[in-house]
Amino acid sequence: MQWSKFKDKDLVLSLAHGIKQKAKKFDRLRIMHVCGTHENAIARYALRDLLPNNIKLLAGPGCPVCVTSSKDIDAIINYGIKNDCTILTFGDMLRVKGSAYSLLSASKLGLYVKMVYGLDEAIYYAKQAKKDAIFFSVGFETTAAPVASIIKSVNLPENLSFFSVHKYTPNGVLELLKAGKLNIDALILPGHASIVSGLAPYEKVASSFNLPCVAAGFEPVDVLGAILMIINQLEDNICKVENEYERLLNYEGNKLAQKALNDIFDITDSIWRGLGIIKNSGFEFKKTYNYLNAKLKFNIPFSDSYTEEQKGCRCAEVILGTIEPPQCPMYAKICNPHNPVGPCMVSDEGTCRNWWEVKGDI
Ligand code: SF4
Repeated sequence: MQWSKFKDKDLVLSLAHGIKQKAKKFDRLRIMHVCGTHENAIARYALRDLLPNNIKLLAGPGCPVCVTSSKDIDAIINYGIKNDCTILTFGDMLRVKGSAYSLLSASKLGLYVKMVYGLDEAIYYAKQAKKDAIFFSVGFETTAAPVASIIKSVNLPENLSFFSVHKYTPNGVLELLKAGKLNIDALILPGHASIVSGLAPYEKVASSFNLPCVAAGFEPVDVLGAILMIINQLEDNICKVENEYERLLNYEGNKLAQKALNDIFDITDSIWRGLGIIKNSGFEFKKTYNYLNAKLKFNIPFSDSYTEEQKGCRCAEVILGTIEPPQCPMYAKICNPHNPVGPCMVSDEGTCRNWWEVKGDI
């Protein structure tokens, strides 16, 4: 199918009609995606408006900056200010608050922080810097894999090290399900992240929790097509992993990316903002690469225990799909993209931000 077809209005409406017809036999279906890019596409194309009332399309923990712990943000800010080093990170990360300051607002306190589009640019700036530079390395396997790959293939400047807060989606989802924190009937799997991991890591999710799991792309036809595939599985009483995104994603994933990840990182327990410590859900440097690990190299106190997030912030419930953004009392009143209180209002991938862009202050 041509790429333009994935936005084709007639095809979109026909899929929406098919979903409406088939959904009649279900009382209620809660379908969760775990990717900020999916939430962005769903909001931008108003796909929720095309679904019948008994289908709830929920945004799960799929926005990388939203799940970055405030303790990690505090740690990098405090260290950066006290030791006069350069902090390099992605634009989305700059405005997410720790317990008091974001990286951007901490620049008023003397933090030197620079936005980069990727590790290659961070290397460039580190080479210019006459002091230590730390790359605050955020994101799921989609971002961790290129970081690992670059580390393997270039000579890094000696003054550059890394503070990894990378997360691994399949294990994060699995552990949240085990803990009974996700009340859902099916999952739309993240197209981008699955291109790296492949779909095998989700087999356990489908089989252990009787959840249809369908990996999807990011156009309207992809998302609605995935919902229809999920409903077909439920109709036939099947729960398996399927791939709607065959034009870019294969079951095995990207073996080179997986090797780069395995060579550089270990899978470790990790703190997800508002959700606590999740077993085997993060990427941390292998011992061989301790010299690149800023937490160890500079003895930075990082988040090895969990504390609750700011009072009144309901981002954790938004991330778990238990409330929708307008149910947070701060939504649009105090919290908006110009003054984000919680992380979900910051990034293009944040659920509250996407709802606000479409619905405004409701
Ligand atoms: Fe968090 Fe703001 Fe969303 Fe409330 S409205 S859940 S504080 S981002």
